[in-house]
Amino acid sequence: MYNPKSLKAEEFINHEEVTESLAYAEENKNNLPLIDSIITKAEKRKGLSHREASVLLACENEERIKRIYDLAEQIKKDFYGNRIVLFAPLYLSNYCVNGCVYCPYHHQNTHIVRKKLTQEEVKKEVIALQDIGHKRLAIEAGEDPVNNPIEYILDCIKTIYSIKHKNGSIRRVNVNIAATTVENYRKLKEAGIGTYILFQETYHKESYETLHPVGPKHNYAYHTEAMDRAMEGGIDDVGLGVLFGLELYKYEFAALLMHAEHLEAVHGVGPHTISVPRIKHAEDIDPSAFDNSISDEIFAKLCALIRISVPYTGMIISTRESQAVREKVIRLGVSQVSGASRTSVGGYAEEIRPTDTVQFDVSDQRTLDEVIKWLMELGYIPSFCTACYREGRTGDRFMTLLKNKQILNCCHPNALMTLKEFLMDYASPETKRIGEGLIAKELQNIPSEKVRAIAKERLSLIENGSRDFRF
Ligand code: SAM
Repeated sequence: MYNPKSLKAEEFINHEEVTESLAYAEENKNNLPLIDSIITKAEKRKGLSHREASVLLACENEERIKRIYDLAEQIKKDFYGNRIVLFAPLYLSNYCVNGCVYCPYHHQNTHIVRKKLTQEEVKKEVIALQDIGHKRLAIEAGEDPVNNPIEYILDCIKTIYSIKHKNGSIRRVNVNIAATTVENYRKLKEAGIGTYILFQETYHKESYETLHPVGPKHNYAYHTEAMDRAMEGGIDDVGLGVLFGLELYKYEFAALLMHAEHLEAVHGVGPHTISVPRIKHAEDIDPSAFDNSISDEIFAKLCALIRISVPYTGMIISTRESQAVREKVIRLGVSQVSGASRTSVGGYAEEIRPTDTVQFDVSDQRTLDEVIKWLMELGYIPSFCTACYREGRTGDRFMTLLKNKQILNCCHPNALMTLKEFLMDYASPETKRIGEGLIAKELQNIPSEKVRAIAKERLSLIENGSRDFRF
């Protein structure tokens, strides 16, 4: 039985509810009065249910799709302004005991060299990341209780936060490791992590079990209920995601929104972020073996629909996607992007970019300076801000900030100050020139006169060598 408040995976991601929603969507895909009423509801910026959003996903009417895209763009502007938050993944270890058939880390893969960073190597990676300007990381590891126990992950987090190289510092560490216990989530919370990210891969239980034939990840319920345990352990910012390409996208989309509804119903706060990875070629992995891959058009439609269905949830796009695709979906709702990512263990400390296929092919291979310049030329403010989490504005406190539209008096000046730090410490002359112009222009968009004056003063302090201010 479908029950969004249940703590049982098969009740809150209920297969019958997903299939009935898809059937309802199919029946109504040409029902324009219904479609118009759903779009009108979305215009109120309070989100959509999985069933309503599924109808819009099924709709192929070009005029309505354009309305959906325009609305996604507008909601993005209203809630997130023109800021784009930057981060980089840091791969700690590719040891893994699971058998995920789409992932090159799967334990039977003998083509990759297994490697786990020592704390000395973590330090080298972090210095390399700080030296290009990163302030926010997402740490990644395979699942291996012997090689990557929670103590190892905690040691790495401690090392990462402890390194202060030149003007560099990592101010927020998000964590993407396998589903674990409440006790371990509590330890991660105590270690000061930002968001706990875990991709569901697929919500379709039968496919999930086939795609994860062996290892602890085989357990669908344990994996799907992980966010509830994370929240029980005190982590109130959690990040959902589906690996698009494994199952039918309409199924995944409805179930993903059901997961968000479940978190809201049980914990009073929805997911902090949703990631939208698509399956890529990798060592020992041929993406064409998975026949549910989606076109760039459908991918964009999914992003736009996520934006209007859960307006308060940030959206993340990685360098799995090309510059062109990233450009398209940033406009439609993405709020965070990775830049200059290296997906091999120890990759950042290597002088020449290693072939990254060890985890997956990186489509966007530009440097961080190039990514920053590109974003600014598109009219965005690249932001390295980590203030909310450091000020304790997580979970529902962050959502309140967003709902009260205080972003322009808070996140906007924080974005400008962190961009200024990047320009002073890491940017090329051309990027610096563009950035200085952008900051001068964007300062005028801070509504509160008082906040604007403080921001101006802090920008000149940054110019003179001070760092790390925040509202
Ligand atoms: N091991 C952790 C787990 O089990 O959740 C998380 C780390 S894993 C390195 C991060 C994510 O990479 C996975 O959740 C999966 O969605 C994604 N991934 C794995 N293989 C991929 C591929 N071939 N193409 C794109 N993404 C992939």
